[in-house]
Amino acid sequence: MIQGNLKRLKKSLPQGVKLIAVSKKKPESAILEAYENGQLDFGENYVQELVDKAESLPKDIHWHFIGHLQRNKVKYIAPFVYLIHGVDSFKLLKEINKQAKKIDREISVLLQIHIAQEDSKFGFDDAEVIEMLNDPRFPDLEHIAIRGVMGMATNTNNTTQIEAEFNSLKDVFYHIRQHPALADHAVTEMSMGMTQDYQIAINCGSTMVRIGSAIFGSRK
Ligand SMILES: *Cc1c(COP(=O)(O)O)cnc(C)c1O
Repeated sequence: MIQGNLKRLKKSLPQGVKLIAVSKKKPESAILEAYENGQLDFGENYVQELVDKAESLPKDIHWHFIGHLQRNKVKYIAPFVYLIHGVDSFKLLKEINKQAKKIDREISVLLQIHIAQEDSKFGFDDAEVIEMLNDPRFPDLEHIAIRGVMGMATNTNNTTQIEAEFNSLKDVFYHIRQHPALADHAVTEMSMGMTQDYQIAINCGSTMVRIGSAIFGSRK
């Protein structure tokens, strides 16, 4: 099942759109099956689960942390995480920088932008991001590479609304890309789109889709 799903999905993605296979709550055997079919990028939401999986699975997997990251847990994933998608505060960014510095590595991150109408979703709004980029302490974060933005649309059947939300993420992306504080960062990525809305996201310019259920089946 996983093999067929992956194949179909990959065929349908335009070139330049990277597929992140979201494997949260799925067993290592499922990840291995996808890996053996050429999938290298996986997304996880929970720190302990990610640490356990990374320890036993092949070392060339690119682990994307896509959940809500608590500051006191950054240290556990700092040594190996490939990209942190959900950075939603300056405080968290500073902690990631601190842990990256300790082990002398640079960590790539995406800034999570609040685009949905639901209150429950995390993220910066446009003004907060600009405020952070303008902060005189921002350039001190020498162990951080800001690679772009991430967003989640409202869970709704209203495609017009989803499209508007993804377009608002695109606006933030183009806005911050020009910010002088990011002149030395390669800001190229828009992480948007999940199983239910990835086609809309792609039409809005997504460069990374995070897809779980359509590959691994639904979660309990
Ligand atoms: C779970 C999750 C996904 C994948 O969701 P599916 O609907 O299974 O494709 C994508 N992004 C985030 C942030 C998630 O938590």
